Amino acid sequence: MILEEFINNIRSSKLEIVDLTQPLNEQTPILTLPEEFGQTIPFKKKEISKYDEKGPGWYWNNFETGEHTGTHLDSPNHWVTGQDKFSVDKIPVEMFIGNGCLIDMEKEVEENPNALLTPSHIEEWEKQNGDIPKKSWVLIKTGWSSRFNDPEAYANFNTNDQMPNTPGISKEASELLANEKDVLGVGVETVGTDAGIAPSFDPQFPNHNIMHGAGKMGLTSLCNLDLIPSKGSIIIALPLKIEDGSGSPVRVIAIK
Ligand code: MN
Repeated sequence: MILEEFINNIRSSKLEIVDLTQPLNEQTPILTLPEEFGQTIPFKKKEISKYDEKGPGWYWNNFETGEHTGTHLDSPNHWVTGQDKFSVDKIPVEMFIGNGCLIDMEKEVEENPNALLTPSHIEEWEKQNGDIPKKSWVLIKTGWSSRFNDPEAYANFNTNDQMPNTPGISKEASELLANEKDVLGVGVETVGTDAGIAPSFDPQFPNHNIMHGAGKMGLTSLCNLDLIPSKGSIIIALPLKIEDGSGSPVRVIAIK
């Protein structure tokens, strides 16, 4: 039986599971918007008891955070263009699992932190690996996760243009992936799925605008993308079922 073979292959390490998730703590980098806008709050954990007088036999915490903290999923209704699409609790569970297609932009990003994924990257990937299967997660490897523990380097704010200089996705690439390739969404190593300078693009934040308008999702602050192959992995990303939520911290794993 297929499922029995599957679990046996995991237990015998024929199939390997890779954790693509960053830890959640008070240092977890979050997005900062221009000051006229509302702001998300950092993750904060408050102890209730730890085997002490407040609870002698048990340890537990409260926590508070924004929906879009750390490794998280953007649901389609996160953006105004997707406001009539799924909230995070309504996303069909089949959409939490898909093929992983990894596009490597790491060398380019080393040279230019503002590098964008373009249709030619996608065409080149397909030349090497065949067509991107429908309902895939397209993961963009930039190496940016190595900066995660250094908030300044991770944000990479440029005082000349007054914007974070971090890699992203061109409008044309988002249109190709959302409309023609019919992907589940894109996954990135940065704090958001658009480039740091995307407020200056037309449309602003093109990937959010296009992907969510097409009912697609986003995954951000991924790590360990260097441990998964260009093709052939399965990605599973499970957000919390926040009623009418716009996203959620998520545990993302790859099976390879
Ligand atoms: Mn987000």
